[in-house]
Amino acid sequence: MEKGHQLYEGKAKKVFATDDPDLVIVSYKDDATAFNGLKKGTITGKGVINNKMTNHLMQKLEIAGIPTHYVKQLSDRETVVKKVSIVPLEVIIRNISAGSFAKRYGVEEGIVFEHPTIEFSYKNDDLGDPLLNTYHALALKLATQEEIDLIKKYAFAVNDYLKTFMKGIGIDLVDFKLEFGKTTDGQIVLADEISPDTCRLWDDQTHEKLDKDRFRRDLGGAEEAYEEVMRRLMGE
Ligand code: UDP
Repeated sequence: MEKGHQLYEGKAKKVFATDDPDLVIVSYKDDATAFNGLKKGTITGKGVINNKMTNHLMQKLEIAGIPTHYVKQLSDRETVVKKVSIVPLEVIIRNISAGSFAKRYGVEEGIVFEHPTIEFSYKNDDLGDPLLNTYHALALKLATQEEIDLIKKYAFAVNDYLKTFMKGIGIDLVDFKLEFGKTTDGQIVLADEISPDTCRLWDDQTHEKLDKDRFRRDLGGAEEAYEEVMRRLMGE
């Protein structure tokens, strides 16, 4: 596998070409941003943890029947994934009220829902990722009805799997964001990452936050929180 030129640099990852047109290499950075890039910082060691955690979980999700972009981990920070065009929808599943949900609907954080919720936002930094429904997504031609149906099915299946998995390591899965991509042969697969950057993870006993809210809300101890999740997940 030859690493080629840089195709793209995002807020938390870089993407490189390879000698195979259907594969790319993602490289995870320690850079942290919040509030649509307004707040910037570093969480030392985050890139390594997010890379390993994402790969660990994506391999488990594949076995559970959810197709993903994961191919092979190359190093602590680098992974080969299928080249996809990202569906410009951020898919958010919630099990417990927090963050923008609590703010938008004027409720406290920590309300455990009887049924998980799903919402979509338009992945567009210039517009601040506005919330939209599936009719809006169709009108904007962001995906087809079939693709949206599949994305919903996969997102809830990811939640079923992850919620149980996290509970097993003493973590309540509060909410998370997924992104899906379309491979060169048109298959919808889970892409991007699953990490403390993209999930809210609360210790199920102490309710301590073990995720990026430590950075967003200046709570301190972000590095330690990411390391704690990693330790529980993989014993490292
Ligand atoms: N999230 C994310 N990227 C985003 C927005 C949200 O990974 O651009 C994740 C976030 O970490 C949380 C979940 O999606 O686990 C729900 O986030 P919310 O809508 O509450 O927004 P926030 O409060 O983070 O602005």
